[in-house]
Parts: sequence; structure tokens; C-alpha cells
Amino acid sequence: MSNPSLLILAGDGIGPEVMDEVKKIINWYGDKRDLAFDVSEDLVGGCAYDAHGTPLTDETMAKAQEVDAVLLGAVGGPAYDDLDFSVKPERGLLRLRKEMDLFSNLRPAQCFDALADFSSLKKDIVAGLDIMIVRELTSGSYFGEPRGIFDLEDGQRVGINTQRYTTEEIRRVARSAFELARKRNNKLCSMEKANVMESGILWREEVTWVHQNEYPDVELSHMYADAGAMQLVRWPKQFDVIVTDNLFGDLLSDCAAMLTGSLGMLPSASLGVPMANGRPKALYEPVHGSAPDIAGQGKANPIACILSFAMALRYSFNEGTEAERLEQAIEKVLADGARTPDLLGPEGGKPISTAEMGDAILAALDASL
Ligand code: NAD
Repeated sequence: MSNPSLLILAGDGIGPEVMDEVKKIINWYGDKRDLAFDVSEDLVGGCAYDAHGTPLTDETMAKAQEVDAVLLGAVGGPAYDDLDFSVKPERGLLRLRKEMDLFSNLRPAQCFDALADFSSLKKDIVAGLDIMIVRELTSGSYFGEPRGIFDLEDGQRVGINTQRYTTEEIRRVARSAFELARKRNNKLCSMEKANVMESGILWREEVTWVHQNEYPDVELSHMYADAGAMQLVRWPKQFDVIVTDNLFGDLLSDCAAMLTGSLGMLPSASLGVPMANGRPKALYEPVHGSAPDIAGQGKANPIACILSFAMALRYSFNEGTEAERLEQAIEKVLADGARTPDLLGPEGGKPISTAEMGDAILAALDASL
């Protein structure tokens, strides 16, 4: 059998720096765990625009469709701010998400004990937190038609976006959330605004249908999304998996993410339908952007990108035990006090570089054998 394939799109700014550390981890799995990957690399974002005049070439798009998983660093930067909208770096990322039909966006919010003081919430509210937000990513208000800015007869203008969901769009993201809940603590909370929106009523009905017909063993609850936002900051540990639409998910996942402290710690996965080999179409990326303010200085925290690879191990390659090994290595390195500059608290301390953080994680992996 051939090795599983990975396409690495490191992108711009700190993307290549943090991805260099992920490549070390990938090599470690090949050398030490007999888990080798066929890795290819290509361009996305501003660097692709520089080389080809487009943020994602058709050839790269075709490669992304063929591999078992895509790992992405980050795109964008000030040099590209004035480009036409159609060739901005972010368009490359949006094209990947759209053409791979990555409808289920997984954003874990996990608080490492060593970083519990980083949260804006009290330590006992966030210590040990481990929740997963599943956001619908390819429909809803960001895609629904009609949309646009139009002139009205009375001289005013009107801006329109349409919140629109079909039965199948809701059911498929609900299924992916129920599946995740089964692998975790078997609890799913669905969030919408069924009190004021018809699309919310349909959302609640369809999630309930999937529950009753396919996942009756999972404990399902429903919450209005505004109440959900309050509960996330009041008592986040009441949740296990949360499923919600594109717009509410955008807001709720950022809110949940900040419970855990630094942007440099947050991974994500975007999954689509299963391919012929049973693996879902998948793109893994840190939540952060290209951080131009620290790019090229060895200051970037590579952990968000490394945790994104851990998600790939778990969700694309069914290597949950190895994903845990990697997460525990990170936990250990943090507990031992290793800190990139973003992880230094007000009391300061001596920061380590991006590469030193990667090396410390490799050493912890070695120690785990
Ligand atoms: P950003 O996430 O790049 O940076 C926000 C702040 O967090 C900065 O101070 C940065 O130094 C810090 N930061 C981010 N990642 C870090 C890490 N790994 N380690 C340490 N510190 C880190 O967001 P921004 O400044 O709003 O955007 C910068 C560029 O990135 C823009 O061009 C934006 O469009 C793009 N962007 C891309 C993505 C993506 O590729 N998915 C996401 C968000 C923003």
C-alpha cells in the first residue's frame, strides 16, 4: 500500500516558518512510528500571486483534490492589500474551501493547564476545557442569494444578504457533528435562532430528525445562539460538541477560541464528503493569519500549525493514538515552561524561537517512546 499523501501549502508571512516545524514532526512520524507520508508542496496566497499572477493555480487546485489531506500555513500580508479583490491572497483559500466542498469546519477550544492563566476568564472556569465547535462553512448568510448592494427608487441604498439552508446542507453538517460527539463525550448542542428565524426553525427540525433517525444514542440539546454565547463565557465546560451555522459559527468559534488564550495555539480542520478511499476531503490550518508584524523573526508560535497536523492524524488518518501522543508532547513542553514570545505572561521570562519550540516538541515525542 502506498503512503497517505499530504499537500503542504505554507503560504505567506509566518506560514512557511511554522510549517517548517510541522515538516520536522511529519518526518519524525516516518522515522520513528513507521507512519510515512508522501509529501508534496506548492504555493497559495500572495506567494502564488507573485509567481503566477493568481493566488491559486488550477494545477495546485487539482493537486489539492487528489491528495488525502491539505496542510495550509497562512495567506496574506500588506504587500497584497491593494490587489484587486479577485486575486487577493484570501481568494486562494476560499477557492480551496469552495471547490473541495469543505462544509464542516472543526474548531477545538482546548485549554492547556500550563496556559490557563492566559484566558481572560477565571482559571477554574477554563482549566481543563476541551470543547469542539462545528461550524457549517459553505452555505448560509455568506453565500445565500440574493446578495448585494442595490439602489432604491427613493434614492437610498439597500444591502442584502440571505440566510438560506436546505435540508441536506443542515443534515450533513449535523451528521459530522454527531459523529464527532460519538468519538468524544457523546453530547451535542445545536445552536440557532429558531425563536426569530425560519432558517433557525428548519435547522432545529432537521438536526432533531438526524438525531432521532440516525444518532439516538447521542445526547442532543438545543440553544438559541445568543444564549449560547453567554453560556460559553459563563460555564464553557458544560459543552462537548456544538454545531451551528456559518454566521453564528464564525462568532461563537472566535469567542470560544479566546477562552484559551493565544491565537498561536488554535488549530482547525475543514472537512467535506468522503472520497473513494473513505477519507474525507480535508484541509487543516491554524486559525491565525500570516502575522506580518513578526514574520521572518523566528518569533511565531508553531503550536497551532502542529496541532492542526494532530487533527489530520485523527480525522484523516484514523491515528487517534498518535494524535494524542503529539498533543501530550505539546502539553509536556508547555508544562516544562517552554514559551514563544506570544506565550509570555506579564511576568516575562526568556522566550524561545519558533525552531526551538519545534525541537522541544520533537524531544518530548522522543521521550514518549
Ligand atoms: P494574524 O492572525 O496574522 O495576527 C494577529 C496578531 O496575532 C498579530 O499580532 C500576530 O503577530 C499574532 N499572531 C498570529 N499568529 C501568531 C503565532 N503563530 N505566533 C505568535 N503570534 C501570532 O491576523 P491579522 O494581523 O489580522 O492579519 C494579518 C494577515 O493575515 C492579513 O493579510 C490577513 O488577511 C491574513 N489572515 C489570513 C488568515 C488565513 O490565512 N487563514 C487568517 C486571518 C488573517
